[in-house]
Amino acid sequence: MSQVIHVVQLYPRDMNIYGDHGNLLVLKRRLQWYGYEPKITEYNVGDDFPTDIDIIIGGGGQDSGQDKIYQDLMKRGKQLRELADNDVPMLLVCGLYQLFGQFFQTNQDKRLDGIGILDVETYGTTERLIGNIVTHSETFGDIVGYENHSGQTYLGETVQPFATVVKGAGNNSKDGHEGARYRNVIGTYLHGSILPKNPKIADFMIELAVRKRYGDFTPNVIDDLFTDLARSIAIDRPR
Ligand code: GLN
Repeated sequence: MSQVIHVVQLYPRDMNIYGDHGNLLVLKRRLQWYGYEPKITEYNVGDDFPTDIDIIIGGGGQDSGQDKIYQDLMKRGKQLRELADNDVPMLLVCGLYQLFGQFFQTNQDKRLDGIGILDVETYGTTERLIGNIVTHSETFGDIVGYENHSGQTYLGETVQPFATVVKGAGNNSKDGHEGARYRNVIGTYLHGSILPKNPKIADFMIELAVRKRYGDFTPNVIDDLFTDLARSIAIDRPR
């Protein structure tokens, strides 16, 4: 009997644009290829919050999508902070990245407090940061994706950047940082979706979850030929 790993996607009904659902498909397939059994929960507003969670992911959304899930997310903030402090691997993209921070201040000066897992502040602007993006991280090497956001995010004292921008904008149009990382929680602006062309991030999350749940990680070997081909094409795309 395969060992089960429980993956929860937050708010796919309202926060799932620019292909972010692909992140769930990658985790599901790579868990299967590695010989584990994925259990998938798509959590939406009003659902009972799942238990025994091994991995959490969440995608981006329009400002309207953020409004739709906001109250429910605030209600789940304490549980999510406890999971983050208990080193559950999480990947939040764009709109949910912003709301996992301290606050999101719209360009009409409306302030939405975040759930405070990531020590970041986001300010809505009239400038949209859009286009293909390449970043670099010590842990994951080059990371390729696509960004489209009007919010500009700035890191606080207790969080590290996820990566450094090589081509594109990233968190804002000024400091060259992209994303944020706190313990095993990764926030990023990279859509694309990010995991299909950056499987090292998916494997990082899977290994953390398997070791946490079962103590040891003895994966099958995966042939990433097509993934590597896709990366090599995407990295050379113009901004
Ligand atoms: N609405 C937010 C912004 O524009 C997030 C957008 C997104 O999730 N792509 O910054």
